[in-house]
Amino acid sequence: MFNYKIVCLDLDGTVYKGAEPIPEAITFIRAMQQKGIEPFYITNNASMTRTEIKEKLRGFGVETTEQQIYTSGMAAAHFVKRDFPEASVYVIGTDALRDELTAADLQLTERNADAVVMGIDRGITYDKLAQACLEVRAGATLIATNPDHAFPSHQGFLPGNGAFVRLVEYSTETNAIFCGKPSPIMLELIQQATGAAREEMVLIGDNMKTDLLAGVDFGIATIHVNSGVDRPETIREQGMKITRFVDKMTDLLA
Ligand SMILES: [Mg+2]
Repeated sequence: MFNYKIVCLDLDGTVYKGAEPIPEAITFIRAMQQKGIEPFYITNNASMTRTEIKEKLRGFGVETTEQQIYTSGMAAAHFVKRDFPEASVYVIGTDALRDELTAADLQLTERNADAVVMGIDRGITYDKLAQACLEVRAGATLIATNPDHAFPSHQGFLPGNGAFVRLVEYSTETNAIFCGKPSPIMLELIQQATGAAREEMVLIGDNMKTDLLAGVDFGIATIHVNSGVDRPETIREQGMKITRFVDKMTDLLA
């Protein structure tokens, strides 16, 4: 019996696959909404704004608001604001990431930063990476949205944010703090926003190393859906304590 109050859904591989919706997920979301439960959407993608994600979901027939959407860019902004409230920030990333940081009332700078925040940037250059390294060597804290080493495209797998963060880590001999899943920051923020108890929360996702690990570490129920990157056999072999495995999300409505 599925009766959680706070339903946190991963997006890519769970609700859609790139540009294609997963029909059973859309049916599940509508069923939740009919019960008066507005799901939360949590994604490691920091290249889209929450408004753009909202519009993408609308294109799939899912109505929601920016307040229900959590991105790793937003998580990074909240993390910096919480732990370094007065920080000036050197950013490598998209306008979506800059918007989240300025919305959190943080000062962006090109020199003498207290923190370097890195998200995927398709316009990345040697100069941007060099400046990030100089800032870190001068004492700035290295923070990143997500550690994804690669992401799928029509050409094949392309280098993800984690690949560039690794470059800065390697060059400066410093470890970055990652704010996307598997960090539980986004789940923490949802709990703070709703005041829910952990027993009332569930995370549904396709990826063992990001989604499910975040849920397990945060101590909430986790459901693996077999529509994305990891197969249930692989997760069972790893001995991860997942609450439930389903083939498709409509199985949760039975
Ligand atoms: Mg996923």
